[in-house]
Amino acid sequence: MSKVLFLVADGMAGWPLDILDGKTTLAAAHTPNMDALAPASLCGRCQTVPNGMPPGSDVANMALLGYDPNRHHTGRGPIEAAAQGLRLDSDDLVWRMNLVTVSDLTPGGVMRDYSSGHITTQIAAPLLTRLAEIARGGLFTPVPGIQYRHLLVQKNGATTAAAHLTIRPPHDILDQSIEQDLRAFATFPELDAFIRQAHAFLAAETSSAATSIWPWGQGRPLNLPEFTQQRGLRGAVVSAVDLVKGLGRAAGMDVLEVDGANGLIDTNYEGKVQAALDFLRHGDSVYVHVEAPDECGHMGKAVLKRQSIELFDQRIVAPIVTALRDTDTTIVITCDHFTPVVRRTHTEDPVPFLVYQTRAPRTDGPAVFTEDTAASTDLFLPRGEDLMTLALESGR
Ligand SMILES: [Zn+2]
Repeated sequence: MSKVLFLVADGMAGWPLDILDGKTTLAAAHTPNMDALAPASLCGRCQTVPNGMPPGSDVANMALLGYDPNRHHTGRGPIEAAAQGLRLDSDDLVWRMNLVTVSDLTPGGVMRDYSSGHITTQIAAPLLTRLAEIARGGLFTPVPGIQYRHLLVQKNGATTAAAHLTIRPPHDILDQSIEQDLRAFATFPELDAFIRQAHAFLAAETSSAATSIWPWGQGRPLNLPEFTQQRGLRGAVVSAVDLVKGLGRAAGMDVLEVDGANGLIDTNYEGKVQAALDFLRHGDSVYVHVEAPDECGHMGKAVLKRQSIELFDQRIVAPIVTALRDTDTTIVITCDHFTPVVRRTHTEDPVPFLVYQTRAPRTDGPAVFTEDTAASTDLFLPRGEDLMTLALESGR
């Protein structure tokens, strides 16, 4: 059977931009390698985000890995907990916890930055140590992660009202009022009290731009069926971000660690490629995830996002295609969701994809790979998990 490689550029797709003469960042980017594959590929669109679910990377990457989010998704926090191999009880409630910059923790407050100025892990670590001290003896346990992305475990919280609070992801409410979220936090007094204690410490601490914690994406521990049993492939994931590692780990896949993989535009592309190729020598399937286009979309930076897509094309797609040219491999190129620069957040539009089979190149694919050319074919997959199925079938 053919090997299967997913190359996923997080948030790569977007909407047309005036500043790019009405083109999307993907269409405007110089991507000769993806464009060379397109005519020889099966192209189309895939609804990675099920109707009614939030268009998050957690939902969409779960679907691309072949799991129906409607059945398996419990929250973003639980996925990232799986990434860390955290031991949890089935009634624990796991929150994703950002270090954020808010103007003030009052109803008049505004979300200034979901990442505290892209705080480094090195600067965040002592803050998390102190937050753990503040939390000691209470319901909550902060768990350090990387950069601005951390976790908060609420003992036996899955059976409490906290499990049902609706808190918006901080990247969705940039420069917006936080009043409705504060009102939701306030309905669970222990959580509200901990957030206020954390704010009192962080706002006074001058080593970083962080002024508050922001718990969101809470749920019960994740429980996914094994990828190998589901698909008959021995699989691995390569990513800088905890949520993709968590999905992989929860699915029983190998999680390939790459030094210098940081989720930003200067990530270690060559290291990711090498890790994927090394794994494919004995394994069957690798899911390579690159975070940078999404981050650029959140920053609202069209030119930087275009550049991040060009880097993905030059430094991920090109070396992979070259290395695998004479093998029997199905290469899927796609993104988990749209992150339009004009929106600075995700949308649920169906994502463009291409499926290229090294042994059976097609001749009827579109001339180049963009949102529009993918939409111009009649191929539409109504469920994200269908793309993994299609990739497997393409290699048979
Ligand atoms: Zn994002």
